[in-house]
Amino acid sequence: MPPGTIVKALSGYYYVLPEGVELQEINMITCRGRGVFKNRKITPLVGDRVMFEETENGEGTVTEILPRTSELIRPPIANVNVVVLVFSVTEPVLNLQLLDKFLVHIEHTGIEVVLCFTKSDLLSGNSDASAPKEMTIAELERITKLYEGIGYTVLKTSSRLKEGVEAILHYLEGAVGVFAGQSGVGKSSLLNEMISGRNLETNEISQRLGRGKHTTRHVELLPLNNGGLVADTPGFSQLDFMEVDAESLGSCFKEFAEAAEGCRFRGCLHLHEPDCKVRDAVAEGTIAASRYDHYLLFLGEIKDRKRRY
Ligand code: GDP
Ligand code: ZN
Repeated sequence: MPPGTIVKALSGYYYVLPEGVELQEINMITCRGRGVFKNRKITPLVGDRVMFEETENGEGTVTEILPRTSELIRPPIANVNVVVLVFSVTEPVLNLQLLDKFLVHIEHTGIEVVLCFTKSDLLSGNSDASAPKEMTIAELERITKLYEGIGYTVLKTSSRLKEGVEAILHYLEGAVGVFAGQSGVGKSSLLNEMISGRNLETNEISQRLGRGKHTTRHVELLPLNNGGLVADTPGFSQLDFMEVDAESLGSCFKEFAEAAEGCRFRGCLHLHEPDCKVRDAVAEGTIAASRYDHYLLFLGEIKDRKRRY
């Protein structure tokens, strides 16, 4: 048997999607974990690539978990290789500080990120927007350039206009993806646009069952037409810096890397140290002031937290 991927884990059963099957002929194998997992530290996770054997009753047994490339804790999914970070251009107002915070967390996991600005239909073409809440096309372009300049893939999407959905799908081809972003930005709407009828139905069903009532709602990976899998629940909802320490924060700001190599002190925190090339780059404008400001802010938060615990 070829390996498969666990797409759902429920009540001691693992639902395994064999590799290399067409979506039309998906035949999920319901598996039990072999007893051996119970004695070991490792528990099969959704997203795990596993070896399995079919049993006589058409079910199967998971016999081995293949090495993981990544492991998310919230939601618990193994082998995620793309995070689609969703922010709306407005409603709620685009908050770049929060965006950078999400980026820090994702960078810390080492997983690739695709930045997605959605609700583009709400953009105002007016360049001198009088309403402070409005986001203009020009302003979004400026922000897009900023993040593209750092090296991020930036997409502009709208579920309402069905814009950019194909582009997201492209980045999820053959990948395991998770959507992330604050609530209300339009993640579920994008997900619904991406997924064919079969999966929409399961979404509706879980809503009817009142998924909010179950605190330990299960995670499920939904198969896409292009061989990708996407989690039906957002990730990175809790944003604290418990796992990122002051010394590694700088490395979560990708564009600091080159300058930081030139800093006089190894482990330079880019605060007040002499000969700090990161601060030089900020002064020259090669590193955006907004990014450096957020770095300082997050560094302060990490230090405050350390003091408290
Ligand atoms: P989530 O909490 O991130 O999953 O956000 P939802 O997908 O539930 O969307 C939150 C609200 O934004 C809903 O009222 C949606 O109808 C609305 N919304 C989502 N996508 C778009 C969009 O592309 N354009 C507009 N105008 N509204 C959207
Ligand atoms: Zn420095």
